[in-house]
Amino acid sequence: MGFSNGPRLLDFKSSPPHLQFNKFVLTGYRPISTYRECLQSLFYMHNEFGNIYTHGIPFLFFLLFLPLNIPWSEVDWWICVVHYLACLSPTVGSVLYHLFMNHEGGASVYNTLLSLDMFGVCLVNTLGALPIVHITLLCYPSSRCAAMLAYLLLSLYGIHCAVTARSNVNRLRSFAWQALFRLFLFMLRWIGPGTGSPASLRLYLTMDSLALLGGLVNISRIPERFSPGRFDYWLNSHQIMHMLVILSILYLHWGMLEDLSWITSFQCPAE
Ligand SMILES: [Zn+2]
Repeated sequence: MGFSNGPRLLDFKSSPPHLQFNKFVLTGYRPISTYRECLQSLFYMHNEFGNIYTHGIPFLFFLLFLPLNIPWSEVDWWICVVHYLACLSPTVGSVLYHLFMNHEGGASVYNTLLSLDMFGVCLVNTLGALPIVHITLLCYPSSRCAAMLAYLLLSLYGIHCAVTARSNVNRLRSFAWQALFRLFLFMLRWIGPGTGSPASLRLYLTMDSLALLGGLVNISRIPERFSPGRFDYWLNSHQIMHMLVILSILYLHWGMLEDLSWITSFQCPAE
């Protein structure tokens, strides 16, 4: 199978119990490994290979190219920093989770890495939205502070739910309150009195739709449930979710770029 000599791969039934989370992926499981062996699995084919690279390559791409795109000197520096960290965070935790999930530390290492992966998703939900809150309520400083605080509290609750969740359904549900809050912000932009670039609203709605779709695909185990074993290496539900997450981050970024160029030429009306 691979392009370099890896260890003999395991099938679902002979893989470690904590790695048996998708019964429609039948083959390609890496054996229990040391750190070094996990790193070596970057160079041969197995059933986490696609998951590692669908977030690993975008991570490097975002790390290097987003800074060239962000207007650091034209707007408040904190917005740029928070936005940059938001775009990077979900891919970091994900790559570590998928690369080291078969580490010899067993279920406890696996669970720690899964929490780290979920924490990255929580961070993009939290940090990604704070500049949106700021810009939507730009002319209402006290409401803006209250909304930021409310969003942070919802985020803390979401993080707690996400890292303690025991199923993919509950993991997705952890993000519901933050998503509803964002929807409320988008309504404010649409009907007023919220502010922001008119072009970014559509981009943010696309961002949230893609993220939700990714979560639903991941829960539904489509397409592999219809043909178990056929999507072990490529294009299973988790990989499709990874790609939808990357697209969603791109839409966040494009929406924020619109907002950041809008903010430089906007003045709140005088009281
Ligand atoms: Zn993943």
